[in-house]
Amino acid sequence: FMIEVLIEKCVGCGACLRACAYDAIKIEEKLAIIDSDKCVLCGACVSACPFDAILLRKAKTEAIDKSEYNGIWVFAEQREGVIAPVVFELLGKGRELADELGSELSAVLLGHNIEGLSSELIAFGADQVIEIDDPALKHFWDEGYAYALAELALKYKPSIILAGATVIGRSFIPRVAIRLHTGLTADCTGLSIDPETGDLLQTRPAFGGNIMATIKTANHRPQMATVRHKVMNPIPRDDTRSGIVIQEQINFDLDEERTTWLGFEKEKTGLINITEANIIVSGGRGLKEAKNFALIEELAEALGGAVGASRAAVDAEWIAYSHQVGQTGKTVKPLIYIAVGISGAIQHLAGMSSSDYIIAINKDPDAPIFKVADLGIVGDLFEIVPKLTKRIKEQRV
Ligand code: FAD
Repeated sequence: FMIEVLIEKCVGCGACLRACAYDAIKIEEKLAIIDSDKCVLCGACVSACPFDAILLRKAKTEAIDKSEYNGIWVFAEQREGVIAPVVFELLGKGRELADELGSELSAVLLGHNIEGLSSELIAFGADQVIEIDDPALKHFWDEGYAYALAELALKYKPSIILAGATVIGRSFIPRVAIRLHTGLTADCTGLSIDPETGDLLQTRPAFGGNIMATIKTANHRPQMATVRHKVMNPIPRDDTRSGIVIQEQINFDLDEERTTWLGFEKEKTGLINITEANIIVSGGRGLKEAKNFALIEELAEALGGAVGASRAAVDAEWIAYSHQVGQTGKTVKPLIYIAVGISGAIQHLAGMSSSDYIIAINKDPDAPIFKVADLGIVGDLFEIVPKLTKRIKEQRV
């Protein structure tokens, strides 16, 4: 937006000056002057002006030729030669969208010593793999990965770029969007094509999960979106599929290199990763203190499941952030999700409500978690959980 004072209409009455909460207007020689450093384009002066002498206009965006942009890209995130599971899910969705648009689906693979991974990407739906195998990409680093992906996008001009909303994706994909001067919709739960315009419809929860917002990147290309793990479905692996592999090279002599890779320390935990688990037992504030989290761990162990947590439990430092389920944690979709002492705030539900079977243990019969639970147990977790663990252990013997 841009703001403008119409000299021929302004009489310098000062109504705008009084309406401005940002001290961004002064009157000089019977004319309102707007200080662009202070103005936030709120429009209060526009409504206050009795002479219609101030205009708030949408700046013209430079039209791009959308027909120059073709194809769907999936960023094929890998660590130490293992492709992130979300990539296969994105290839599944990407395949569906590419077929609808009649365009190609490409996987973009960055790393070092990554031979062999391309065939896997093709088996899961990619028509072609564009890869850069370079020692500079051996370990993930934001600047290098962002530079490489953006350079490839400038060269090939894809219409859509999809990536996982993983730690890596969340870290560097926004940098790619900035380099390409385009928009990015994070954490999408739905992707489809607008039948009229062919634009990508990017749907995600907004306002704390209370509404679903559908966002379009109507004036820019590429259209970029990230998606969490376990939201989309992969297509079945087909090793008979064939595809093209394109090797690319990039000069990584970056002026802006500001980080040095010192090492990678894996989280020291004997606990199972929640995003892969079939059974998750999650604990919340109802556990009252750190030592009681052992009740959750014991039940999870008895069931051969993983340990999850609400943000309240993570904020209290009873368990590491990597176990947090919800809007600002992980999205999980296990066969069985057991919520213990968790109220069921909308932000928690956002990460677990698509679990196949939900069991809730809570002493408050009105707790919102019961609205999504398939089985609700109203009672004191300190009585119920130890009994449950004991019974399961007995049955295992
Ligand atoms: P509480 O809401 O305090 O619930 C504790 C429950 O334990 C109560 O229902 C109570 O009845 C029950 N209880 C107490 N004692 C017992 C007992 N002896 N036996 C049985 N039940 C008992 N939260 C997340 O979980 N994940 C997120 O990713 C997340 N992201 C957020 C993002 C934003 C922007 C915001 C604003 C909030 C976010 N939150 C998230 C926080 C969320 O709003 C809630 O505050 C949080 O989920 C509450 O955690 P809780 O259910 O453990 O605690």
